[in-house]
Amino acid sequence: MNILIVEDEKRLADALSHILLEQKYMVDVVYDGAEGLDYALSEIYDCIILDIMLPSINGFDVCLELRRKKITTPVLMLTAKDTISDKVRGLDAGADDYMTKPFSPEELLARLRVLTRRRGEVILDEIKYGDITLHLDQSKLSCDKSLKNIHLNFKECELLKMFLAKPDVIISKQDIITKIWGYDSDAGDNNVEAYVSFLRKKLAFVESSVEIISAKKLGYKLTSKV
Ligand code: CA
Repeated sequence: MNILIVEDEKRLADALSHILLEQKYMVDVVYDGAEGLDYALSEIYDCIILDIMLPSINGFDVCLELRRKKITTPVLMLTAKDTISDKVRGLDAGADDYMTKPFSPEELLARLRVLTRRRGEVILDEIKYGDITLHLDQSKLSCDKSLKNIHLNFKECELLKMFLAKPDVIISKQDIITKIWGYDSDAGDNNVEAYVSFLRKKLAFVESSVEIISAKKLGYKLTSKV
């Protein structure tokens, strides 16, 4: 889960980021409205935590611009002002929810869970394809035929999930880097190649007929031999 934090109060932004990283969210933090809008336009985020009073472009306008561009990423607005008009204005601008500062980490996490669930994506415990099942709750890959299973680490699990969302479709290395390592990470093709190789070994270990095929220079796709 990728979260963007747009908040110019550096201490609050860093505290938020810390809370989310602890919960295994992937987090990008920016301290400015215009920069926040740029990041949000990439559409790689599952939720945007957006302050209202920001340098260059305020939170209302960032949100309006996103919605004008038909970007539907859920927005959780942070407001220092507990006034009805601010809340109404935020919701009018297309925010999905708002939170008044100060708030507890529990409240933040609860609201994020609701917002990321609301996106119309059913939260699945498992995803099946060919002869494999990815058990998301246990980060485990199993093969229905051999009945073997193996644990996946966080990035392996995210990568397999990405492939399972679009089987038989070529996914570029750049898309993988952006989704798994984040928008402005230093990760390169070699990181992707390493994780694809880990996944291939694990698919082979459970004796699955599902494989990750290299599409020359373009990327990879998941296919099933059965
Ligand atoms: Ca602010």
